[in-house]
Amino acid sequence: MIVILRPSIDKTGGEYTALMDFLNKQPNIQIRIHEEVGIQQTLTELYLVGDTSTLDKEAINEMPGVERVVRVSQEYRILGRHKDDGRPTSFEYNGVTFSQDSLHIFAGLCAVDNPKHVEEMLKALQENGQVCTRMGAYKPRTNPYAFQGHGENCLSYVFELAGKYGIKVIAMEVTHESHVNEINKALEESGHPTGVMLQIGTRNTQNFELLKSVGRQTTHPVLIKRGFGITLEESLNAAEYLASEGNRKVIFALRGMKTNMGDPHRNLVDFAHIPVVKRLTRMPVCIDPSHSVGNRERSSDGILDVFHATVQGVIAGANMVLVDFHPTPSEALVDGPQALQMHELPLFLEDCRIAREAYEKRVKLLA
Ligand code: PEP
Ligand code: MN
Repeated sequence: MIVILRPSIDKTGGEYTALMDFLNKQPNIQIRIHEEVGIQQTLTELYLVGDTSTLDKEAINEMPGVERVVRVSQEYRILGRHKDDGRPTSFEYNGVTFSQDSLHIFAGLCAVDNPKHVEEMLKALQENGQVCTRMGAYKPRTNPYAFQGHGENCLSYVFELAGKYGIKVIAMEVTHESHVNEINKALEESGHPTGVMLQIGTRNTQNFELLKSVGRQTTHPVLIKRGFGITLEESLNAAEYLASEGNRKVIFALRGMKTNMGDPHRNLVDFAHIPVVKRLTRMPVCIDPSHSVGNRERSSDGILDVFHATVQGVIAGANMVLVDFHPTPSEALVDGPQALQMHELPLFLEDCRIAREAYEKRVKLLA
């Protein structure tokens, strides 16, 4: 059960104390307090865990200081959608709003290789009106001898260049708790010229200790990829781990499933699950067409499969697109063969715009 308190509630006042006294007297119930610190106000939610079946929802609803009580099903308590659940489906980070109604494109390098390529990429993004990007510094690789990313060493120039070109949010994968500390240190040292969305890759979707540590920090939002070989339910529970530790600024990414049935694509594109995730949870949904398709093949119509997969996601209501670009794909240290090229950036953005407009028309017509 979730007890949503009035935004104005004074935690040192009588209303709050009386409510907590009442709840503390309920047998076999633990209270977890979640605070959502926004620009205008702080929202407080009390999560009542344990034997909540005996609790009188109406009696709690009537208590001073309480705005609303939501009885949750077991699944995805915090990030899920529940009956009479009016909780938001959006959050704000570094001036950018992410929601189940918005769309942001995160085009960028799969892996940071050198400052020149980073600068070329970021300059092109600014010229095309973009404020978000992807930049991999820590790369989980199948082969232990493959390039593992420049890690901490590239952070200062990546952040400085992002600031120079007006980038507000960089999606960056972390594979260990220490990477979050390194990112925070580099942001601090460079004077916070940009923001970072911490990415949990598909290989780490069920790395529960990583999820817990990334969930405990609430500075940065988290982009969690669907696990490529587990059920959707298991992946959504992994996202819930982040929220259960305190961070509910979570975006869920579909990136294709590992099965030979998807061949010749790298993974089987699973973007038909966008509406499913939006129905089950309050998370904005991201698609990653690059790691789903994994090549630069074109269909008989002359359009790249990556473009086709992208618009399939956008027309179904995707809220974020994570996509690999590279100024010189032949020099890329990771995933060059699937990278889109700079001259394709305006075309890609226009294709997304067409698909988004079609999605909005579909909502007007059908919803
Ligand atoms: C990535 O986005 O760079 C990546 C490695 O993706 P995934 O975890 O989906 O394979
Ligand atoms: Mn990649």
